[in-house]
Amino acid sequence: MKQYSGQVISEGTVLAKVFIGETITPNIEKMNVKDITNEETRLDEACLEVMSFLHKSIKRAKQEQIAEGIGIIDTHIALLSDDSKQSLPHRAKQLIHEETCNAEYALETVAGRMVDEFDAISKSGYLSARGEDILHIKNMLINTLLGVTLGCEIAEPAIIYSDRLSPEQLTSFDPKLIKGIVTAKGSALSHTAIIARNMNIPFLTGIKIDAGSVHPDMIGIIDSESNTFILDPDETTVHSYNIKMRENEEKALLIKEKAKELVGSCKVALYANIGRPCEVADAISNCAAGIGLFRSEFLFLDAKETVDEQSQYEAYKEVINAMDGKPVIVRTIDIGADKEAKCIKLPKESNPALGTRGIRISFANPDVFRTQLRALLRAAYCSNLKIMFPMISSLWEVKKVIEEVDYVAAMLKEEGIDYAKPPIGIMVETPAAVMILDDIAPYIDFVSIGTNDLTQYALGIDRTNENLSDYYDVRHKAVLELIRITVEKAHKHGISVGICGELGADIKLAKDFLKMGVDELSMPASKIPAMALALEGEVSVDSDILVPVDGYLIPMEEIPDAVFSKGLVGRCVGIYPENGIVTAPFDGVVTMIAKTKHAISIKSQNATEVLIHIGIDTVSMDGRGFEINVNEGDVVKAGSKLLTFDVDMIKDVGLSPIVIVVILPN
Ligand code: PEP
Ligand code: MG
Repeated sequence: MKQYSGQVISEGTVLAKVFIGETITPNIEKMNVKDITNEETRLDEACLEVMSFLHKSIKRAKQEQIAEGIGIIDTHIALLSDDSKQSLPHRAKQLIHEETCNAEYALETVAGRMVDEFDAISKSGYLSARGEDILHIKNMLINTLLGVTLGCEIAEPAIIYSDRLSPEQLTSFDPKLIKGIVTAKGSALSHTAIIARNMNIPFLTGIKIDAGSVHPDMIGIIDSESNTFILDPDETTVHSYNIKMRENEEKALLIKEKAKELVGSCKVALYANIGRPCEVADAISNCAAGIGLFRSEFLFLDAKETVDEQSQYEAYKEVINAMDGKPVIVRTIDIGADKEAKCIKLPKESNPALGTRGIRISFANPDVFRTQLRALLRAAYCSNLKIMFPMISSLWEVKKVIEEVDYVAAMLKEEGIDYAKPPIGIMVETPAAVMILDDIAPYIDFVSIGTNDLTQYALGIDRTNENLSDYYDVRHKAVLELIRITVEKAHKHGISVGICGELGADIKLAKDFLKMGVDELSMPASKIPAMALALEGEVSVDSDILVPVDGYLIPMEEIPDAVFSKGLVGRCVGIYPENGIVTAPFDGVVTMIAKTKHAISIKSQNATEVLIHIGIDTVSMDGRGFEINVNEGDVVKAGSKLLTFDVDMIKDVGLSPIVIVVILPN
């Protein structure tokens, strides 16, 4: 039994057979060759074989809906089909000519030079990831030249060990059979890491084992809690890990089950972050009460041309429809810094994280911005969509985005196209935005704190710099103080506050955020159940008032009717109903039933009076779809049925079925 310590790329504990991937390239020696043409032909044939492997991999990624994989393999196909003089195969051939050397050596040398060139341009994460792309292609070509079959079909569940693992190789495995990944090299920023995290595969890097010593059927254990990889564990270790994993599994199942009941009653709304429409299913299965951050730039990252209005509209609608009335917050494209899209030209800058990114990209590309706003305003029609703008640091930027929204709305109106102007919010990602929030707040409806960038800009640390990870402290007192100030200022102006950066998933800090008054936490969908459990007991309304309808909680500020959202009738919450049954929130007397049956109020003995208002503007339904079970003056018991209503009928007439529970002022 041998134990290794590594860096966690993706969390989890797993025990499975170890499978040695074939990306470990042997030391390549230089050989003098006589037949240069033969070396060129070998290289050409290897390129064809790798290309065919890449096409197979992309097919599999599509079948398995591994969205990130599709884009990355596309990039590799593009790199390999590049017939410019700067491409890897072309430069390798040139070296074969210049040094009459073997193709393997030429590839190894040229790839090394290309990576150095990338590093010389910038140390930014994006370019390092591009260097990794070159190395993956080089490894595949060398392996092919050496006669190693690309891609590995594993027949049973396995932990893959590899020197490096390319995204293609990862997606070439049956995803159901990859239980874990251990590599010698790799970074948390690499594309392979992104895919592994999205696929929930435990992944450790920085571990060098002697691959030759691994026999078939040898077992390995990844334990991300202790950052360890155990090779060939003894019986006692296997036994204790089997117990630990069974317990973990049972706990996860229980958490998910319990979360279903808890998510809706959390004082703070638990939302999911997504990057693509296909991720919304995960948000739903993990009981997300809304989408707190749809990183719309993911639609653009691997697109060859900018994404047209209709495609964007369909992507937003897909998420909106799937969320069935729950809030969906779409962030306009945040390209730049470590995210590059081929379809949007970025200026060459020495400091991309402080450069043209976020809203600056949208202002620099007005056509792209207006196209996105058109798609968003169209999708906002009859829906609970909100738009959020990234990297805001000045008031003029906010005024300009509002002007743009107004301009696009006027265009759509003139063209006779259905649209709506949705609530508008900003991401608080710069200390500047925090400090001038009093000026900005009157122009917006909500804010969401992007703690990843807020930490980067508050502490002055490049968030992608692995060497500075010890300094990048997301729980730094300065960051927490900036969050507290944001909440204080936003609430002073009656607007809601979410956290959608990584800190939104921080269970240790969640209760502190609740105390600060944060209204919404948005996180990777898989983290929601555990968060709901951690916040159990932090119920939404006064403990002596029962929730009168099953459903998802909507903070007051997010109710799509100013009469309620501004608190004009009293303190209230919205509930997006799961069914049409309204029950009494406490023992009391029915004090009012609206003629049109869409509202009822109850008064308790201690004089608390609650108004339950079904839907927005449902007075116009004139009682259709509503059934009252009580009369004015009736004494009712907590939990007894007051009325029923037809949720679908309300939706069918184009109205919102959100139930508003108002505590009427004495
Ligand atoms: C953030 O900065 O916290 C955030 C959510 O945005 P991103 O991570 O996409 O930059
Ligand atoms: Mg950000």
